[in-house]
Amino acid sequence: MIRIDDILEAIRSYHADADLDAVRKAYVYSAKVHHGQTRLSGDSYMTHLMEVASILTRLRMDVPTIMTGLLHDTIEDTLSTEAELREVFGDEVTEMVDGVSKISKITFKTSEERQAENFRKMLLAMARDIRVILVKLADRLHNMRTLSHQSEERRLKIAQETADIYAPLANRLGISWVKSELEDLSLRYLEPETYKALSKKIAQHRRERDKYVATVKKKLEDILKEHDIDGQVQGRLKHICSIHKKIVKQKIEFEQIHDLIAFRIIVPSVRDCYAMLGVIHSSWKPVPGRFKDFIAMPKANMYQSLHTTVFGPSGQRMEVQMRTADMHSVAEEGIAAHWKYKEGKTAANADEGRFSWLRQMLEWQKELKDSNEFMSSVKVDLFPEEVYVFTPDGDVKELPKQSTPIDFAYSVHSDVGHRCSGAKVNDRLVPLRTELKNGDIVDIITSKSQTPSKDWLKFVKTSKAKNRIRHWVKDQERQQSLELGKDLLEKELRKFGFSYNRALNLDTVKGALSELGFRNFEDLQAAVGYGKVTCNQVLSRIIPEQFKAEAPKPSKISQVLGKIRRKPVDAINVQGLEGILVRFSKCCNPLPGDEVIGFISQGLGVTVHAADCPRVLESDPDRRIEVSWNRQKGATRSVKIRVYSLDQKGILATITKVITKNAANILRASVYSTNDGRGIQSFEIDVQDVQHLTRVMESVQKIKGVQQVERVRVGRNK
Ligand code: MN
Repeated sequence: MIRIDDILEAIRSYHADADLDAVRKAYVYSAKVHHGQTRLSGDSYMTHLMEVASILTRLRMDVPTIMTGLLHDTIEDTLSTEAELREVFGDEVTEMVDGVSKISKITFKTSEERQAENFRKMLLAMARDIRVILVKLADRLHNMRTLSHQSEERRLKIAQETADIYAPLANRLGISWVKSELEDLSLRYLEPETYKALSKKIAQHRRERDKYVATVKKKLEDILKEHDIDGQVQGRLKHICSIHKKIVKQKIEFEQIHDLIAFRIIVPSVRDCYAMLGVIHSSWKPVPGRFKDFIAMPKANMYQSLHTTVFGPSGQRMEVQMRTADMHSVAEEGIAAHWKYKEGKTAANADEGRFSWLRQMLEWQKELKDSNEFMSSVKVDLFPEEVYVFTPDGDVKELPKQSTPIDFAYSVHSDVGHRCSGAKVNDRLVPLRTELKNGDIVDIITSKSQTPSKDWLKFVKTSKAKNRIRHWVKDQERQQSLELGKDLLEKELRKFGFSYNRALNLDTVKGALSELGFRNFEDLQAAVGYGKVTCNQVLSRIIPEQFKAEAPKPSKISQVLGKIRRKPVDAINVQGLEGILVRFSKCCNPLPGDEVIGFISQGLGVTVHAADCPRVLESDPDRRIEVSWNRQKGATRSVKIRVYSLDQKGILATITKVITKNAANILRASVYSTNDGRGIQSFEIDVQDVQHLTRVMESVQKIKGVQQVERVRVGRNK
């Protein structure tokens, strides 16, 4: 068993000034709160924590990360709380422990690759601090090493998750030794037979292989010496999983794989790498197409090296890699290499390190074609632009940041979006405009009677949701204008004794359509509903001459409609509908400048109410439509005001004078006195807009004897 002194020693080896007391404190605390707990293996729980910390020292992590390794299970598995950790160890370590606990709680279900990719990104996004992922990887590595103590079912589940999520994550971060070990351990539990057979074969050929490695190593060392390069040669067997993949991919037998061993030459400089490459190519015949220059073109995970395969000393294929010591540490430790403790580094510099690493990534990004994948996962970590959430079935969905349950619903299916009537996030009902967070489990409640709302457009983030909602609203408006158009046409046709269907069959219809520029009658009908075309324009073209002569005088209704259409139409813009029939409500009688809202009434177009009119607030929200004033038009509108005053002589004359002085026309006035000696005067006056009315009312208010002036609106005045 590892002792704390071993860990402290390891830290000291790469960071002489490390605050070892802090590590010791984490150890003592952890041992105390985990006291009495054991692992399935029978070992004390502390063994696990020490192993995790030890793996992290192998990655040369900083002190807070090692402390997190020792404390990573305290919030989940002991009585200690986040608040207590914060008090004892401060924010940095506590937040990392919290991060590890959070990502440990979510489990991955399917092994579909796209889902796995989203899941990996979700982990990175949730971790926020990349060190949290490194602790989680160390935790998983030790759990995989001791997996045999778990039940069969757990073994398979954990091994599958490791193969799908954690090994690729280690690869993504460039930590090759962790990736290889995780891959091999997964294979061992997922395909025990294969693993056993391969291990056996590898053992059988060991002697032969050792001899071969020794020979080639010697030869390469001689070459180095000959060219006066201070290099170091390694020869190693590829890891089992990669041999297995090779056998499966190339459909060959174990015995046919000649390049099971990769030779690696570590040299002082980049120039030496290329020099060695030249020498090797002139000593042995290169295998065509196998040379790869990852120095000029680093891999997305920052890996750099020269790779080549040659026909080696005994004619076998032999893979040789050349790299500098720096490249070697990046290849082994990947992102962890950038977390190495530098002496005198403060917390602020730690951030600086993170960003310089990112800048470096951006530099490399320019030269790389295929690094999008890695960059986007870095982005979700440092600059979150996406949010990853679960479906109730455990699928992961990627959405833009600030997405809402509506976005989620539309990402599932348009119908789910259209019918979305509510949402549960993590089993709790939430408003539809709630912003989703990483790791949320989102459950959409649908209802057959639910339809999309224009309001949704104000908060949805995905273009899919926006498009679908807009499309629906447009359809809806067309449907309304079709109905309205039909109503209007029917009314007019009736005057000539035509039913709608009979009119449709008239020979004149075709000509009328082409004259008015419509492809079919439905479009024309909609245009009438929108008010783009008048009933007269249509009827004058389709009603046969003999009927026109008999045409009755315009009915009262059409006179009223005509009036309505002529005058106020221009004063109001109806959103999305041009030239639709507009009239003003009598109840609230809004003025230009008042906030207004439209209400679609069957056959009567749009009625405009004040936005706060009680009648509108009680009405069916689905029939509301946005309208606004068209301020260019200078038409006046009439409005009622009521003036309370003392019942004194001459006051009426003063009030009328003040009103007319303010350029407001008085249409009607009524006066009466109360028993307690007060006068109440009502005026109907013409004003331009709210400002105009306000001016009038303020002037009246200033008159001596006037107590109160108010605008009269149905349902709102006492
Ligand atoms: Mn653990």
